[in-house]
Amino acid sequence: MNIKTTQDLEQKTYDVLIIGAGMAGLSAAKVLEAEGLSVALIDKGRGLGGRLATRRMGELRLDHGGQYFTASDVRFQAEVDAWLEAGIVKPWFNTLNFQDGTPDAHPRPRYIPTEAGMTALPKALAQALKADAFLGQRVVKLTQAGQKWQAHLENNTEDGAILEGRQLIVTAPVPQTLALLDASGIALSEAQAHALASVAYAPSIAVMAVSKHGSPVFDYPNGVAFTGKVPVRWLACNVAKYEQASDNQQAFTVHSTPEYAKAHFDDPLEVLQNDLLLAVEDITQIKPSDYETVQTHCWRYALVETPLADPVFALDLPTDFPPCYLAGDSFGTGAKIETAWLSGFETGLLLGAFFK
Ligand SMILES: Cc1cc2nc3c(=O)[nH]c(=O)nc-3n(C[C@H](O)[C@H](O)[C@H](O)COP(=O)(O)OP(=O)(O)OC[C@H]3O[C@@H](n4cnc5c(N)ncnc54)[C@H](O)[C@@H]3O)c2cc1C
Repeated sequence: MNIKTTQDLEQKTYDVLIIGAGMAGLSAAKVLEAEGLSVALIDKGRGLGGRLATRRMGELRLDHGGQYFTASDVRFQAEVDAWLEAGIVKPWFNTLNFQDGTPDAHPRPRYIPTEAGMTALPKALAQALKADAFLGQRVVKLTQAGQKWQAHLENNTEDGAILEGRQLIVTAPVPQTLALLDASGIALSEAQAHALASVAYAPSIAVMAVSKHGSPVFDYPNGVAFTGKVPVRWLACNVAKYEQASDNQQAFTVHSTPEYAKAHFDDPLEVLQNDLLLAVEDITQIKPSDYETVQTHCWRYALVETPLADPVFALDLPTDFPPCYLAGDSFGTGAKIETAWLSGFETGLLLGAFFK
């Protein structure tokens, strides 16, 4: 992948513009490149991966978005097998240990990258791509110029920098996609507007906390505690997860329940941190005030609650518009890295066939 800045803009029309360099965007790019098509990925984030997100705190890496992935579809499993073979990912554990004794209804391999941090996976996938990637660039408007799409980027030259493509895939969470289409004056059919408006996401609060040196050992299998303790949904120790070297420092990710995130999304960060760290104090044996560093990320669109069943969503636009597809974890079985990958994969296959 070639990381580009807007200074590098050439008079080039890509075969496909992809908004979003998360799992769906990267998976679509791979399929399209295999068909010999030129691709530009554009993401408002400074790094790759979207909701696969890792933060560095001191020497330690902590995941605050997707924590692991599973594979149930044979096509995704084949891809995962190739990643395993290449040493990019490894199994983490098979069975979740719920603290209230509830058995894991679906024991199966949970995979993580071999290198510390979930973003190691999108980074590895990007290395195999030839695509140009424009990172830290928000698309603020889409226009049509004949049979081309123009993606207008924020904060650039006076009129904004523009990327051109013959086809477009938008992989942003659906509410963000709808806002972009609206800002672009692109009207949807009543049926599609209704379907897309039904896609809902649960928010999530992620607290990342690094303890002081010499803190108590976190003695839970695989470094994970599914607490069932309101308001916490998930507690994992990133030191145990990736076997990161640390002098008895622990590096916790604490995710809230969706209910807590809905009720407290706009609360001050100190309140969120205290609530979540206090709720797990008896597990971590560390008081909220006793951590060395704490950071918080509030995900407005974390987990899809009501996805649309079809992995491919072709926008129903007037015939003089070039094609535009929506992809991502809202299309398919939802709320999973696997769903995002499959949606990107199937959308890529469909577009690839169109160019033949
Ligand atoms: C807290 C949390 C925990 C999770 N846990 C798990 C888990 O354990 N297992 C699992 O399988 N899944 C989990 N998930 C879900 C998983 O992370 C997502 O399903 C998946 O990563 C979605 O990928 P995507 O490509 O569809 O979307 P995203 O990763 O959201 O990618 C979309 C990209 O579009 C970009 N974008 C949006 N609008 C614009 C714009 N206007 N201009 C430019 N770029 C734009 C965004 O910056 C983003 O990078 C979790 C998610 C969260 C948040």
